[in-house]
Amino acid sequence: RQSLPANFRNAIAQMSPAKNPHDLENVEYFFREKLRVWCRVGNGQWHLGKIQSTSVDDVCVLLSNTDEVVNVSMEEIFPANPDILEGVEDLIQLSYLNEPSVLYNLRVRYSQDLIYSKAGPVLIAVNPFKNVQIYGEEFLSMYQNKALDAPHVYAVADAAFDEMMREEKNQSIIISGESGAGKTETAKYAMQYLEALGGGSFGVGNEFLKTSCILEAFGNAKTLRNDNSSRFGKLMEIHFSAKGKICGAKLETFLLEKSRVIQLCNGERSYHIFYELCAGAPQILKERLKLKAATSEYNYLNQSKCLTIDRIDDAQKFHKLMEAFDIVQIPQEYQERAFSLLAAVLWLGNVSFKVIDNENYVEVVADEAVTNVAMLMGCNSKELMVVLSTCKLQAGRDCIAKRLTLQQATEMRDSLAKTIYASLFNWLVEQINISLEVGNSRTGRSISILDIYGFESFKNNSFEQFCINYANERLQQHFNRHLFKLEQEEYEGDGIDWTKVEFKDNQECLNLIEKKPIGLVSLLDEESNFPKATDTTFANKLNHHLRANSCFKGGRGQGFRVCHYAGEVLYDTNGFLEKNRDPLHVDLIQLLSSSKCQLLNLFSTKMQHKSKSATISDSMNQSVITKFKGQLFKLMNKLEDTTPHFIRCIKPNSKQLPGLYDENHVLQQLRCCGVLEIVRISRSGYPTRLTHQELAVRYGFILLATKFSQDPLNTSTAILKQYNLPPEMYQVGYRKIYLRTGLIGVLEERKKYVL
Ligand code: ADP
Ligand code: MG
Repeated sequence: RQSLPANFRNAIAQMSPAKNPHDLENVEYFFREKLRVWCRVGNGQWHLGKIQSTSVDDVCVLLSNTDEVVNVSMEEIFPANPDILEGVEDLIQLSYLNEPSVLYNLRVRYSQDLIYSKAGPVLIAVNPFKNVQIYGEEFLSMYQNKALDAPHVYAVADAAFDEMMREEKNQSIIISGESGAGKTETAKYAMQYLEALGGGSFGVGNEFLKTSCILEAFGNAKTLRNDNSSRFGKLMEIHFSAKGKICGAKLETFLLEKSRVIQLCNGERSYHIFYELCAGAPQILKERLKLKAATSEYNYLNQSKCLTIDRIDDAQKFHKLMEAFDIVQIPQEYQERAFSLLAAVLWLGNVSFKVIDNENYVEVVADEAVTNVAMLMGCNSKELMVVLSTCKLQAGRDCIAKRLTLQQATEMRDSLAKTIYASLFNWLVEQINISLEVGNSRTGRSISILDIYGFESFKNNSFEQFCINYANERLQQHFNRHLFKLEQEEYEGDGIDWTKVEFKDNQECLNLIEKKPIGLVSLLDEESNFPKATDTTFANKLNHHLRANSCFKGGRGQGFRVCHYAGEVLYDTNGFLEKNRDPLHVDLIQLLSSSKCQLLNLFSTKMQHKSKSATISDSMNQSVITKFKGQLFKLMNKLEDTTPHFIRCIKPNSKQLPGLYDENHVLQQLRCCGVLEIVRISRSGYPTRLTHQELAVRYGFILLATKFSQDPLNTSTAILKQYNLPPEMYQVGYRKIYLRTGLIGVLEERKKYVL
């Protein structure tokens, strides 16, 4: 009998099952052999040490770094891995799988600038918050030539590309993580790789990066968590020809945070473009746009006392944007129209009202602000002033103008600003799509890259956070389904011997949100349609109807709490109804359509179209949350039709600093995306599966003709016997053969060996 090739032995060594960390026998073993353990001391920090003595439920440990002796309970110690496993590439290689070992392994790698690791099939990316020399041409070509296989986003993109070409199946790269964890940067590197791989016929190159530059200017902003936070979700679908060349792409965006245009938290900024325009516009343009020299002069911008970002030159960014505009081929005149509208939005924030004679209504102050807005929008300033301070009402056959209160007028003004900005954003996305022109779309050869806002939990959480967290809840389910559920269901369905791995299922939380007729979304729509409802009646309604769901926790007054997979979030219903209704006043639409600006005319046509369809179909369909839900469902359907590749971005600290690894912060993120469970399942699982026929075709030549059986199952068992594989390395199902990690490589190797 021939001896096994070396990699085979390694593969088997990796399969040794993890020992139960809390097993007393295990502790004795560690004591006897003087092996290192992880031990959690008072402050919650993990330390390495060696066991000195054991009692029934206490262990006495000598800490390696301080020579201190501590007494800890059995729950606070875990086996540490041998030195030789320090900093392994894939967490499945760890002999002992526990939280401190995983944390330590990632930390060791991080301190050596090895920011990427694998957790079985999932790529983990720890944000370096500094430039790491692992990107660019040299690395692109190394991954293309398979000269390097260290974990990397390039390797993920490469695997997706190969699988797409081989199987003719659409692929997706799903990037998740909390705000500031590095999703958008990672998505850009994935696009860079695919562009390098499938470039050629597609434009002049760097197309995707240029479009990202536009999207970031208009859709990103400085927040407390990330200086360049994306305030929208995006899916970039890249199409390839049969030869593997890019033949087009399609960009889809999700729910831009409109409220940021008019309202800011302290220390945050509005969308980058406003500051870039003020800082970088050439003098002539500034004069034409009546732009003030300082951003602090605009109320929409100065409210947060944050106008610049450290180390960011807004003027320079503006020049970059102008270049990108040219690449995307937005004509000069349209660029200028877009800038006029941005200036109009800024000036709108400075439009003020005076209350008339103690009475309950206002007039617009006729100052430079309103004159500039009218000029920039191409409207008549008298008309603008009327629209901002009155509201037309239908009284029988007559149309009367009702004067607005200060609050109503302010809302009208802000609503106009938000509408213009959001329409401009959508229009830009359309322009980008035209420039990316996708020819024949349904080819079965596409890679979609999803970069969607991560889970958010702030001190104050509103409608926006609710939508974002809802989207994350859906994505988490997709992740769970692929990595846990489908996998285990397949094993069980095919009758193989399998010990189930438990994972956190989030179906209950999705029920809470989506269930009809009593779920958060339905109840929100119901209240939004009820004229007398207020944010408080909405909160009461939730408390009344949703108590039975274990993911719902009531709150005081206007609050309610939801237990999301990533943690509990307290929402404030204040503003929920209005944001969900997102009313568009007819008067505003009319104003836009009467404007001399073609862009505004275009926007108003779109809105009219929308409000018309609203009267035909159920008006409930028009609510923001229902539209968002529909978009999410479409997205999930699309993703279901692809082979997913998951990337989990991890934010090592909340200060956005390099070299700082905050264990608790990392641990919380690893926990909420179930990294340990993934490693456990993929280590004990069988990632490679072939039908009996496939196995026979690929490896059957080894059998003598007489050994082929009518029954494919018998044939494949015979083949595996012939290859001399140890039985713990595979499982034989009714339909398929299941192979352990790495075994397919061994078979291929062995095939050469046998031949
Ligand atoms: P997210 O999209 O998850 O909110 P970003 O992708 O915007 O986070 O990343 C936040 C910041 O972190 C970036 O602006 C950049 O400074 C830094 N960063 C993220 N990924 C990397 C990386 N791979 N290399 C260097 N810096 C990075
Ligand atoms: Mg982002």
